Amino acid sequence: MNARRLALLGATGSIGVQTLDVLRTLKAEGYPLSVTALAAGTRVEPLAAAARELGARAVGVGGPDEARAIRTLLPGDVEVVHGPSGLEQLTRRDDVDLVLNAVVGAAGLRATLAALGAGKLLGLANKESLVVGGELVRALGPDPEAIIPVDSEHAALFQLLQGVERSEVERLWITASGGAFRDLPPAALAQVTAAQALAHPTWQMGPRITVDSATLVNKAFEVIEAYHLFAEDWAKIDVLLHPQSIIHALVELVDGTVLAQLGPHDMRIPIRYALTHPARLGQPPARLPLGGQSLDLAPMPPDRYPAFHTVLEAGTTGGTAPAVANAADEVLVAAFLEERISFPAIAEGLDDVLGRHRVQPADRVEAVEAADGWGRAEARRFVERAR
Ligand code: NDP
Ligand code: MG
Repeated sequence: MNARRLALLGATGSIGVQTLDVLRTLKAEGYPLSVTALAAGTRVEPLAAAARELGARAVGVGGPDEARAIRTLLPGDVEVVHGPSGLEQLTRRDDVDLVLNAVVGAAGLRATLAALGAGKLLGLANKESLVVGGELVRALGPDPEAIIPVDSEHAALFQLLQGVERSEVERLWITASGGAFRDLPPAALAQVTAAQALAHPTWQMGPRITVDSATLVNKAFEVIEAYHLFAEDWAKIDVLLHPQSIIHALVELVDGTVLAQLGPHDMRIPIRYALTHPARLGQPPARLPLGGQSLDLAPMPPDRYPAFHTVLEAGTTGGTAPAVANAADEVLVAAFLEERISFPAIAEGLDDVLGRHRVQPADRVEAVEAADGWGRAEARRFVERAR
């Protein structure tokens, strides 16, 4: 097998650091994979350290200041690029076969489009690419095997659907842990703090997705992601509450059979699969102790997670609505983490901003980016009013 050559975008984040860990293990096992390029936004020191360790040929950072800072930390022959066009450049390089996009937020969209446009394999953690730009990604008509999802539920669906005819699928189910506040009475939510929201019951993740898991905005994003990856019909995707986060997804078939994918909550497992697909390797970072597991599944409660329904409606509306939902959510989550607004105000802000958005077609990346800018500005106004 020829060695796959990787560009890892978002190398300093939660998924990025876990990917570096997987890369070290693969290297120790002699697996044929090399690292051509690494990128991140602002954390130049860990990025430079990883680039030196893995022998990367090129590095991307957020802006010109970071580019100057990292230049001094790298050998002279390592290329340094910056900004959105820098990410696109890294993904298009001839010496890259596989792009792992683990950037957070809508900033990941251009890299996703560039990777697919250049015919690269794409390991996709950046779900926002599909949330805000799902229609643009679909318009590229990528080979269904070209996107290997890293998000655990979608990695599960990708594996469950191997060898299954789409006409035989009755419904796709993804699971939700219920987030940090799943056992609190709704009246107590107005008092919860950022620190409490960041304590996810089962997964260790970056700050935004952890808060999005408490509001279940993350799950609405994941339904949108599943729609763009696997379904033609919103009615065929549903969510189950599953507090143990052991079953990641289920596929119900027309004959009444239900296939389920289970695994430990360790993102290194789907990351490794995205890097080595279709091969499966031994010596996983964790194994599931199967005896004595209890697995609870329950339908979504209708009223507990208002932001879930608001964001999902933006997804089914389509056009620029999901880009506005994503942008507004990013601003509202940041304001909550800075203790400028309450936890329930995240859902109220989403409802306020989306209620005032005039949906446009999302047929160009510029339209998506304009909607992103509008959603951010409107959410900032909501935060000012709410204080
Ligand atoms: P983090 O916030 O931990 O990391 C984000 C990464 O993106 C950092 O490396 C950051 O760089 C980089 N970044 C941010 N903006 C830019 C930019 N403009 N240009 C280049 N790089 C940028 O996020 P996570 O790792 O938690 O999440 C990454 C993605 O994976 C998200 O889309 C998330 O929804 C998804 N995901 C994450 C899971 C998890 O377990 N963490 C599970 C499933 C999906 P820096 O910090 O140096 O500025
Ligand atoms: Mg997920």
